[in-house]
Amino acid sequence: MPNPRVLVITSCTGEKRCKPENQLRLDDFRDPSRLRDRQSELAEYACQAGEIYTGMQHLRLMEGVQALREALGVDALEVEILSAGYGLIPEHQKIVPYEVTFNGMKSQEVDEWAQHLGVQDAVEQRLESADLVFFLLGDNYLRSLQLPIQTRPDQTLVFLASGGSAKKLPDLAAKTFVLPLSNQEAKRYRYGLVGLKGFLFKQFAEAVVVKPELLNQVKTNPEIFQQIIDGEVDQPSEQLALTSLLDQVPTTPKASNTSQKTTTGRSSKDEFLPIPDVPPAANIHLGMQYYIPEWDDHVDPNYDFLNDRLTPGRDPHHDEVYAHQIYDAPNYDGILVSKVVVDSSKKKRARVEAVGIHDFIRYQGPVMGDCGAFGYVKEEEPPYNTVEILDYYQNLGFDYGVSIDHLIVGPFAVPGIREKRYELTMKNAQEFFEKHQAGDYTFTPIGVAQGWNPETYAESVKENIRVGYDYIALGGLARAQSREIVEIMQEVRPHLTPNIRLHLFGVARINAIPVFRHLGITSFDSASPLRRAWLGSGANYHTVSSKMYTAVRIPPVDGHGVRVKRLIEAGVAERDTLKGLEQKALKALRAFDQGELGLEEALESLLAYDELLELPKDGKADPVEQAKRRVKHERMYRDLLRDRPWQQCNCVICQEVGVEVVIFRGNDRNRRRGFHNTRAFYLRFQELLAKLKEEDT
Ligand SMILES: [Zn+2]
Repeated sequence: MPNPRVLVITSCTGEKRCKPENQLRLDDFRDPSRLRDRQSELAEYACQAGEIYTGMQHLRLMEGVQALREALGVDALEVEILSAGYGLIPEHQKIVPYEVTFNGMKSQEVDEWAQHLGVQDAVEQRLESADLVFFLLGDNYLRSLQLPIQTRPDQTLVFLASGGSAKKLPDLAAKTFVLPLSNQEAKRYRYGLVGLKGFLFKQFAEAVVVKPELLNQVKTNPEIFQQIIDGEVDQPSEQLALTSLLDQVPTTPKASNTSQKTTTGRSSKDEFLPIPDVPPAANIHLGMQYYIPEWDDHVDPNYDFLNDRLTPGRDPHHDEVYAHQIYDAPNYDGILVSKVVVDSSKKKRARVEAVGIHDFIRYQGPVMGDCGAFGYVKEEEPPYNTVEILDYYQNLGFDYGVSIDHLIVGPFAVPGIREKRYELTMKNAQEFFEKHQAGDYTFTPIGVAQGWNPETYAESVKENIRVGYDYIALGGLARAQSREIVEIMQEVRPHLTPNIRLHLFGVARINAIPVFRHLGITSFDSASPLRRAWLGSGANYHTVSSKMYTAVRIPPVDGHGVRVKRLIEAGVAERDTLKGLEQKALKALRAFDQGELGLEEALESLLAYDELLELPKDGKADPVEQAKRRVKHERMYRDLLRDRPWQQCNCVICQEVGVEVVIFRGNDRNRRRGFHNTRAFYLRFQELLAKLKEEDT
């Protein structure tokens, strides 16, 4: 078995090789042109990120990295540094000294700055090509990832984190292991807390040097990481294996969700989940509605695709348009807006307060508000009180408002914690309903049901009905398997009466819609069709026939993309060469679209640029990886070019921007593709509903 592709993500440290008076400060990073000027002033201090930091954690870590590379080869692992100035950067990137750290920032400042740096996107993108990932991050650095992040069940993540952060880690699709570190561990491992993460990684690396198969063992069973650094690795693994507590809850991250795996050309028609042999829920006549979660999903209506230019002087909210402003009719029955999204900046909150939620998102259909429980999953209690939230929904003009719940997932689904969260969610729901009845509130209240198995979910739904709700939402199931949701719904169904509506948070799976509907779900939300436009490869462009295509990667050489920067630094190609290939690829695709160029020639130009985009390992281009990429992408791109799906789509986006919609390049193409995907999903959903209704009668 080949070794897994290992990646280490570590935080930058305050201690650096040199500290010139005029080193970069936070304000320098806010403005790209100022940053360029300031960087050239400091050019004499430039050095590779992997070498600039001299903090204990970094030094010990790099000693471990060095040992692994000497033993297993230079590409045994890759290191990325999470810099509070530069964002996520590869160790070989040249940077100049700066004085910026996430430590000491307030939570909201961390969130805002991390968003500005695009930390989450960069990490998600970087993780795509890794199998085993180690995170050596302090509390605020970990926070800057804005967990949960997109991962896959075939990946393994090992977190070295403080005890406090460890407790708050959300449930992820990847296998995860957290090693909580506090003063106690510092004492136990006889190493100062400041550099402990680096020191422990080095211990691990030294064990792997002796026994390289440990890498695969940790990949399969990450819990043994602890035994390895404790020097207990040769004991029988049965004694060591900690049963993953996550296995006991429906939201187990090990569970791969088959309905999310999409294979091109596969039809989902024959893959509908079977409907159990029970009568339909009493509320089935209420139909089913799709809500889309909103997260600043808008585009520049006058974007200049040929020159890749935004409208000069545009206001990034006011002058942009949402999907429902582009299409004649919205591709959803309602919009879900989380409080965390409204509060993402002071300016935004103030604007929403001034005009109300409907005018802010320029949508007059139903708007549901919730508190965004994933945002505070790690806190002991939700950071809001009921009256404040009731007033918030009312004052901003929401149509539906969700009670304050607390997720029972991952490490928070363990006995002792889950009961507390269950009680808290129920208590909040009761208080929310009572105060809503007593006050002058005009929106419809929704009570949240949480649980950790079918019985507790059913109990929670029953309790919400007893309190008086006629609209209830099931939380904490976004990552659960459809089969598990079906089991829960089978317990819930008998309690439903004809007037009860039931919302399912965060789940949109065409193949499960008939069974969910049969068992009593009347609405659901998900941004998955939208986000798939720019997450992963192979299924970026959806169609109403359910076939999915990849988007063609043509990243701008002149943009801020980490990928292109790395390629240039690694000497894969000169900037001018890349730029030539990039422009040739764009021209070729447009000429192909116009019928002026054949498929093979177009494909050749696309692949000539694309194959160079394979990220270099350890600063060196790997011709084998490049060739692999070429083979894989040739198949996917050929499929796309042969079928020309963008020419067959009658949606206004595909009609107007044409082939630009299948190019993976910047917000204005990628998000438009997401809008198109949402429409494709909604049309399929509508068609399916009509068919199901017909079958009922
Ligand atoms: Zn379209």
